[in-house]
Formats: sequence, C-alpha cells, structure tokens
Amino acid sequence: MARVYNFSAGPSMLPESVLQKAADEMLDYQGSGQSVMEMSHRSKVYDGIIKEAEALLREVMEIPDNYRVLFLQGGASSQFAMVPLNLMTGSGKADYVITGQWAKKAYKEAARYGQANVVASSEDRTFSYIPKLDPATFTPDADYFHICMNNTIYGTVYHELPDTGDVPLVADISSCILSRPIDVSRFGMLYAGAQKNMAPAGLTVVIIREDLIGHAQEITPTMFNYQTHADADSMFNTPPCYTIYIAKLVLEWIKNEVGGLSKMLELNEKKAKLLYDFLDSSEMFRGTVVAEDRSLMNVPFVTGSDELDAKFVKEATEAGLVNLKGHRSVGGMRASIYNAMPYEGVAALVDFMKKFELNNK
Ligand SMILES: *Cc1c(COP(=O)(O)O)cnc(C)c1O
Repeated sequence: MARVYNFSAGPSMLPESVLQKAADEMLDYQGSGQSVMEMSHRSKVYDGIIKEAEALLREVMEIPDNYRVLFLQGGASSQFAMVPLNLMTGSGKADYVITGQWAKKAYKEAARYGQANVVASSEDRTFSYIPKLDPATFTPDADYFHICMNNTIYGTVYHELPDTGDVPLVADISSCILSRPIDVSRFGMLYAGAQKNMAPAGLTVVIIREDLIGHAQEITPTMFNYQTHADADSMFNTPPCYTIYIAKLVLEWIKNEVGGLSKMLELNEKKAKLLYDFLDSSEMFRGTVVAEDRSLMNVPFVTGSDELDAKFVKEATEAGLVNLKGHRSVGGMRASIYNAMPYEGVAALVDFMKKFELNNK
C-alpha cells in the first residue's frame, strides 16, 4: 500500500494510527456487534462516544467550565450566519477584520443581520499580512469582534490577539484548532469546521461562553439557535455520529501519542521552519506572506512563473506529493501541513523542491 503525502487545505490528512484504529473497529465497535456508522445516536454506546469526545476536547484544549462545547453541522460557513443571529442582539453592531475570503464571507453574512463594521482589511496586498489594529477604531458598544485566526487560503495567522476589552472576541479557528494551545478565556466564542485538523468533514465545533447563549434574534431558525443545541447536549437532532467518533480518536492521538497541544505546537513549528527556511534560501521559490504573520498550517509559495508552477505541481503529484496547487485566488502552490502531516512529509517536499530547482535552472 502506497500512501501519498497529501498537502490539501481540507479535507486533509488524518493520523495513520487513527485510520488504522477506525479500520480495526469498523465492523464491530468494542463488542457492540455494529459499526459506529450504524448505531443509534440515542444508544448507550454512542452516548459514551460523544461524551468522551467532548471530555477529551475540554481536557486537551483546557476549556474553562463556563464554556459550552457544541457539536454541530453546516460547516464553518453556517457559523457566519449563526454568530450574528445569536450574538448581534444588544447594540446590533459587530466589528470584523477582513484578512481573507473566509473573513470576508463572515462579514458579508453578518451585514445581513445587523450593522457589521470593517475595522481593518489586508485586501490591498492580496491578504498577505495581518493588518495592524488600533483599538481606537473599534466600536465600543459592539456585540462582538470577529477575526479569522488562521487564514487558510493566504497562509497568515494572528500571532497576537486584538485587545477588545469587554467586547467578546469571536474567532474562526477552522484551520488552526488543535494545532497549538489557545487561551480559550480570551474569547467569547470559537468555531471550526473539523475537516482541516480534527476529523473528516461533517462536524462543526462551537466553543461558547455560557452567558452568550440565549439571546438569539427572534427570526433565528430553531436549528441555528445555540440554545437549542446547548439544552440538548448536541443531541437535538442526529449529530454527525461517525465524524464525532473520528474526532474522539484524533483527540486520543493528540493526548496519548503526541503528548498534548504544547508538544503538537513544537512539532508544527519544526515542520514549518523546515519549509520556511528553505523558501527563504531558495532562488526559485518564495513564500507569499510577510515573515511575521506566517501560518504554521498553510504555506503558500510561488516561483514567479505560471509555467514553472504548473510543472512543479504536476511533477510533485507524480512523486506522491499531492494537492499542492495554490488556491485559485492566489495561484502558485500551497502546502497545508496540518497536525497529521508527518515531519517526513515536509522533508520529502523540501527535498523535491531542491531537486526541482536544480533541474530547472
Ligand atoms: C475551510 C474554512 C472555512 C469553510 O469551512 P466549511 O466547513 O467548508 O464551511 C471557513 N473558515 C476557514 C478559516 C476555513 O479554513
């Protein structure tokens, strides 16, 4: 069996030991005589799985007791509407920083439900940096302040969080959840689609401070109200059962095999450094993001020639390094090196880039 190194931005690689465990348990989950895919979500066995998944997430992320964890569906994209529907209900205002397409989509959706303000944007330079923020420009009575923490398409990340005072900070952490320790208490709410760093597609995780639940706008559909899911412990309707089970296995992997999020960060820093150091020394390839805002998860780079870029992507694919084509809005290449990408995968990519540079001088 030849497995490739998959640099996809999402859905993306899962740890091999997780896939192996899922395979071992596929036909008969722990003596239940059924696959997790087949069992009732109301069964005792499944109740154990979803409870354990939440307990592990709380433990690994050190989520304080006054935050609820919700396992939802609809992707991070549904949160673009759920956030304003549930939170934009005091002054009806919210601040948004536009650092890429996802942040922009979140802002546009919020503008349908209230007064969404753009406090800063990095669109002037193709989102290649995180704009410097001046708290004097923030809306003092905003219901929340929204950021996209790691910008999957452009490869930027906030290394420092904006100081929003009493205004709850809300962050889309779809592409950096579980990649490093996060101080949850700095946020009013965090949300993430699971398919980048946590599980297959189908699960959306919301981590929300309790006092922010229960104030949804009157028009909010029942399924879009955080209260609905908080009251029912994420079991108001059928949850994405199998995806939650895989998330549980991924969390066990982080806890037991990796050794927690501080260790995870060390590994991710080591992988990213290998690639960025090469990009900084190469005469053919260069990263597209300003050095101080570089993401550990998504690394876009270019040669400067569309022809060479295409040749690179094609030959890399043939060498078992797949999904390196950049997002259509940036061009070039993008290597997504999430938690499950082993160091050896990044080393193989860098070796391939060195050879390609030599052969195409
Ligand atoms: C992938 C991604 C999304 C979209 O997620 P869906 O689950 O497909 O809706 C939103 N925000 C960020 C930062 C992403 O990386």
